[in-house]
Amino acid sequence: MSYDVIIVGAGHNGLVAACYLAKSGLKTLVLERREIVGGGAELDHATGPFSQQIATDLNLKIEFITPKVRVLALSDDGRSLCIYNHDVHSTVKEIEKFSAKDAKIYPQFVESFSRIGSVLAPLLSMTPPSIDHPAKGDVWQLGKVGLAFRKLGKKDEYRLLRWGPMAVADLVSEWFETELLRATVAARGIHGAFAGPWSAGTSLGLLWQAALDGSAIGPSTSVKGGMAALAKALGDAATSAGAEIRNTAEVARIEDGKVTLRNGETIEARAVVSNADPRTTFLKLIDPVELDPNFLSKLRNYRALGTVAKIDLTLSDMPEFRGVDDSAKLSGRIHIGPEIDYLERAFDASKYGEFSREPYLDIAIRANLMSIHVQFAPYKLRSGDWDSRAEEFANVVIDRLSVYAPNLRDLIVAAQVITPLDLEQEFGLSGGHIHHGEQTLDQFFTFRPLIGWAQYRTPLKRLYLCGAGTHPGGGLTGLSGANAAREIAKDFKAGKV
Ligand SMILES: Cc1cc2nc3c(=O)[nH]c(=O)nc-3n(C[C@H](O)[C@H](O)[C@H](O)COP(=O)(O)OP(=O)(O)OC[C@H]3O[C@@H](n4cnc5c(N)ncnc54)[C@H](O)[C@@H]3O)c2cc1C
Repeated sequence: MSYDVIIVGAGHNGLVAACYLAKSGLKTLVLERREIVGGGAELDHATGPFSQQIATDLNLKIEFITPKVRVLALSDDGRSLCIYNHDVHSTVKEIEKFSAKDAKIYPQFVESFSRIGSVLAPLLSMTPPSIDHPAKGDVWQLGKVGLAFRKLGKKDEYRLLRWGPMAVADLVSEWFETELLRATVAARGIHGAFAGPWSAGTSLGLLWQAALDGSAIGPSTSVKGGMAALAKALGDAATSAGAEIRNTAEVARIEDGKVTLRNGETIEARAVVSNADPRTTFLKLIDPVELDPNFLSKLRNYRALGTVAKIDLTLSDMPEFRGVDDSAKLSGRIHIGPEIDYLERAFDASKYGEFSREPYLDIAIRANLMSIHVQFAPYKLRSGDWDSRAEEFANVVIDRLSVYAPNLRDLIVAAQVITPLDLEQEFGLSGGHIHHGEQTLDQFFTFRPLIGWAQYRTPLKRLYLCGAGTHPGGGLTGLSGANAAREIAKDFKAGKV
């Protein structure tokens, strides 16, 4: 049997692409190596946020939950700072506990990022223009962004131009004097990255977050029923649109218009779309002789060394956090990384192949599950390996967390540690990189994954990419899948495949 489209991987982007392509009438097959669909989504504790437009287009049966709290930041001295979603007034009152000056400027910070975010937002659902041969439509789209940019006013225009390449530590210190606030805001710039707050270009993460949902600070929106509910809704939407999904179907080889499964079965299609990350796709699934050596060498330089590990704790009760007077403040994310220097030192360890002894932690507690995102945990350890050091690592994290929640250890019923090696072996993420590759200026927009190949097409005429290694990158947004599907459908319509 042959198909119009085979999608390799049922991550959320693969499923979004499957929905749109099947809806456009193409006979679509999704092949997923794992037993369940959703890919990395099951590890997430907040959506990117997921695109509302896609949820509407696909009529997804899900409910997003945005708690009152965006993030609660804890400090070693037992104080805490709560940043609310959409409630600047309450946040200002929290900041006043630390600095009247910061409290006064915070509303301006929020408004500036909101205005800049709304100018950048249209870029997210756009195909990055070709540098060599920009199409008329691309120029028109960029022109519209340019016009919106001109309407920002001089102050925000200059800010936008200056901030992108800046170290996020510099950006936050231009706004605020409180270390806890600086570090909490700066964290978005290093989330999932091989970078510390003093690394150049880390402000980009804040601008991108603002484009996604109007705020520079990491989001706390989740899905009723957990991320598994989102994965299920996407899987159901794909099958109702006519797509076929096969689990435990690992693709071992991709050729132009053909895939071969691990069990030797071959399946043909007019186009193959890879939801796997760029390094996995081109360095593992394709015979190198099929690719231009220049392209291959650029791809080998595509940076995707992960620095994140995940620990899930099942708890018998809600832990008590020092200095937190109201448990409702625990409804968003919890940030541990009280100073810029703390975050930088946490990164330093990973540069030298060690996990941080005092890691940056991003936590969410849902029912009796504590989901802990840990940085920095480098994919390559200088001494020992992840299999032999996972327990030691978990103890470091739990010890650190116990400084803030002293009764935590007594409440742990079960613990699951997911190391960067597990992310590679179980979730198929090359180098264990949570975003399918670093999201730095040189691997962004028209450069994602590589300059000349940012339009979801690849050097193999009938092979496309649709995962987080393409624009607009990582995070549970569905946008890479939707953008890729639009380009693929265009090529089918034009008779190019
Ligand atoms: C630990 C962790 C925490 C994260 N936290 C958050 C968060 O809180 N919020 C957020 O927005 N984002 C978060 N992310 C990022 C987010 O999960 C990713 O950006 C997102 O999963 C990317 O989706 P995707 O569909 O592009 O790829 P993936 O989810 O990686 O899906 C790719 C799919 O392809 C499959 N595949 C790979 N190779 C093959 C093959 N050869 N044959 C068949 N199938 C194959 C994989 O099994 C997988 O199902 C986190 C990621 C991780 C790893």
